[in-house]
Amino acid sequence: MTQKVAFIGLGNMGGGMAANLVKGGFEVRAFDLSPAAQAHAKEEGCRIAASAAEAVVGADYVVSMLPNGAIVESVYIGSDGTEALLNVIPKTALILDCSTIAPDSARRVGAAAEKAGIRFVDAPVSGGVAAAAAGTLAFMVGGVESSFEAAKTVLQPMGANIFRAGDVGAGQVAKICNNMLLAIHMTGTAEALQLGMDNGLDPSVLSNIMLKSSGCNWSLQKYNPVPGVMEGVPASKDYQGGFMVDLMLKDLGLAMEASLTSRSSIPMGAAARNLFNLHKHSAGEDQGKKDFSSIQKFYAGNKKSS
Ligand code: NAD
Repeated sequence: MTQKVAFIGLGNMGGGMAANLVKGGFEVRAFDLSPAAQAHAKEEGCRIAASAAEAVVGADYVVSMLPNGAIVESVYIGSDGTEALLNVIPKTALILDCSTIAPDSARRVGAAAEKAGIRFVDAPVSGGVAAAAAGTLAFMVGGVESSFEAAKTVLQPMGANIFRAGDVGAGQVAKICNNMLLAIHMTGTAEALQLGMDNGLDPSVLSNIMLKSSGCNWSLQKYNPVPGVMEGVPASKDYQGGFMVDLMLKDLGLAMEASLTSRSSIPMGAAARNLFNLHKHSAGEDQGKKDFSSIQKFYAGNKKSS
């Protein structure tokens, strides 16, 4: 029998993910507040529901891909008159929240789901809009082993790599740590390349040297931040597409929050957050929609003239 997935949140990421579930043979009942997102999902073979509550009727799995923790909590637990989806999701269903939210927020939804007798995993993703469309996302899952095994059935059509990080909330912790490190090596790479250029080096030559030396890292290998050094990357397309500064700032904010909860020191993560925040408000315009490798422009703009 065809398995049913309710999919809530059909934006840049969710749209492609839901389309891959249709291709994977699931019946997808989808809902989004945006009529444009609904229309796109319909074209991809999803059946559009009139509400989230209608989408989850008879569902074997419920997948959500929403902007932030406040929205995820209000959808599942309910607030200000919103009906809690947990009241209407079948007890046999498995919930997979793929949004990037605070670990504590995921744990609150997980605890409420447990109380309602429904299984829940957090399953945030690495990989952007292109990976969501191609079905090559990496999933970092938090939940008990048996729920993780069950989650794989629905994650496989959407992803290339699926990891269990630990119990509920652990997927979000893994995601936050990964993106904090990404922010740090991207800012470090931009800083080193700018220092080289300011001292007369060609950025392509310096990049090739560092790629074969101990400074080698993912930002240099796959995502060089200097325009023209690498073909096809956002830096060579006026920093369009890719992973927005605003989303990186959101993830670094979640890292700050997590560090307060665990009383961890994250000086490098805090510096990276400040750099991206300064960059967002630099050069007289909001840089938030630019790809995060545009941090290179911030370094280039801050070169001292004497
Ligand atoms: P988006 O804004 O494009 O999509 C979110 C969708 O949720 C929108 O279509 C919106 O209408 C819908 N929505 C909001 N509230 C709703 C509600 N109450 N009920 C139903 N639908 C509702 O965002 P996105 O880029 O798809 O990101 C989604 C999540 O994935 C975020 O948590 C983000 O941090 C994470 N993420 C994004 C990327 C990326 O590159 N875009 C990469 C990894 C993770």
